[in-house]
Amino acid sequence: MTMDLLMHILLPYTVLKSLFRLENRYLLPLLFFSVFQDFDRFLLMRKASESPAFVLLATAAIYMATRQRADGKKISFIAGFYMLSHLVMDLGSPMPLLWPLDNTFYTVNIYFQLQNLFPVLWWEVTTTLAVKQGVGTILWTSSFGLLALLAMVYAFRKKIRAAVK
Ligand SMILES: [Zn+2]
Repeated sequence: MTMDLLMHILLPYTVLKSLFRLENRYLLPLLFFSVFQDFDRFLLMRKASESPAFVLLATAAIYMATRQRADGKKISFIAGFYMLSHLVMDLGSPMPLLWPLDNTFYTVNIYFQLQNLFPVLWWEVTTTLAVKQGVGTILWTSSFGLLALLAMVYAFRKKIRAAVK
């Protein structure tokens, strides 16, 4: 399933925050790496950034650039995790998985199929030669709902806190 920007931000952030208790002063500024792969479509580029090779190269580059810092490994891990999570969440939409060896876009659909009432893991791969650039969903209706809910909870946080005490 294709994920939109808000999900690309919320899911990996929540995972890193809850599993590794990493600090917000790292997690928040680096969130850029969880979504920038969706912006190259506006630059009318082929989306090479949504490939495993790109994520590997970019993570290696960030590691090289930050290795003199005491927190270099932490920064590389967070940025790499954000970029990788983007790929995983985009499975199901066309991606240049074999870039730079091959510019074909692959759409991988993974699902469970009932065979004789027994669930079997199944997948389907379709290919596209080019993806129309400059278009695409970046914020879904359900995310607007989630955003509105979060904004409301935030706006009424003092009243809610007092009410649930
Ligand atoms: Zn994407």
